[in-house]
Amino acid sequence: MSFFQYYRCSQCEKEYDSQHLIYLCPECGRDYSAGIPLPGILECVFDYASIAQAWADFIKENPDAGIERRIHKLCEIFSPVDLEHYPNLPVGNSPLIPGTGLGIKNLYLKFDGLNPSGSFKDRASALMVAEAKRRGIKEIVTASTGNAASSLAALCAASGIKAVIFAPANAPKAKLVQIKVHGATLNLINGSYDDAYKEAMKYSLEHDCLNRNTAYHPFTIEGKKTAGLEIFAQLGQLPDYIFVPTGDGVILSGLAKAFADLLAARMTDHLPALIAAQAESSDAICSYWETGIYQDAKEPKTVADSISVKTPAAAHLAYRVLHESDGMGIRVNDTEILAAQKMLASRTGIFCEPASASALAAFFQAKEQGWIKDNSKVVLMITGHGLKDIEAVKDDT
Ligand SMILES: [Zn+2]
Repeated sequence: MSFFQYYRCSQCEKEYDSQHLIYLCPECGRDYSAGIPLPGILECVFDYASIAQAWADFIKENPDAGIERRIHKLCEIFSPVDLEHYPNLPVGNSPLIPGTGLGIKNLYLKFDGLNPSGSFKDRASALMVAEAKRRGIKEIVTASTGNAASSLAALCAASGIKAVIFAPANAPKAKLVQIKVHGATLNLINGSYDDAYKEAMKYSLEHDCLNRNTAYHPFTIEGKKTAGLEIFAQLGQLPDYIFVPTGDGVILSGLAKAFADLLAARMTDHLPALIAAQAESSDAICSYWETGIYQDAKEPKTVADSISVKTPAAAHLAYRVLHESDGMGIRVNDTEILAAQKMLASRTGIFCEPASASALAAFFQAKEQGWIKDNSKVVLMITGHGLKDIEAVKDDT
């Protein structure tokens, strides 16, 4: 039985019944129309006392439980949907790999390119599919730069659910192939990711389906928090810094939610600083963090397609978690991104897509500026596999 109790608006803090199918806060989101950051994103609140008890009982009964069993238990007690509804395709439990030779002793790479569709997005898709199954909904729609779509296509295929995708026509070819091979309905948009987001919103208002647009449904954030729970189990504690490739700000918000949940259940008293790594041209969250004033990115154009966003859906939440965690935003340019991608591939054996390499490029900047100490414990989120976008690197090898 899930310990999920109710939804709470991240803006006005009003509470809503956990059994309702709602997306944004009905009050703060009432006048929302696509083209601005989402107002009134909902957060899931759990019965933290019962979670703490369940975890204590588990550790007492299984003192020698290995990391994999601990992760399974954490994901079970912190999930808003019972595990029986999840797709059979295993998601998450990705390795935390020592980043030997990259600058400091305690550097770790959370390699989510090893998920079934090759990206971190499988975490949110798995939970959205579980929610659709629990509610008997047969169709899920999403907008995507490519990874969320290929991920949703794979996990829907594993569960007999129809996936409807809106993606920019210039998305990397491998991602479009993935969407098609899994049998999803692909609607190509002659425009940007932001245009695709609007189309998917329109579609879900007109059809009986679940909308997986990132940050729109609170479970897209809940699904992503599993990576934070895994890091906690894998390190036996939380690190000092986590570098996160940041487009919409939802992975950042998902990780922050994991740590807030662990804190609420009194399972940690130490929280990591979250660092948003953004492409120079797609830096709306960095600018927001610096100035306190939200403005769209001017003209997103970067080799890191997965974080190329003009209007980040979770901008307000990301702004909050950056400040609450004593984190920061760091801009990296395409030259730094491609150099970091190559270095990671040649020194660690991990081939990641350009967006993921932004985390390493930002880490180098932070190290150079003296913000990261030699004895700091640091995790880089490596969110997608390099084979998803070989065009970005093929002329450079
Ligand atoms: Zn509200």
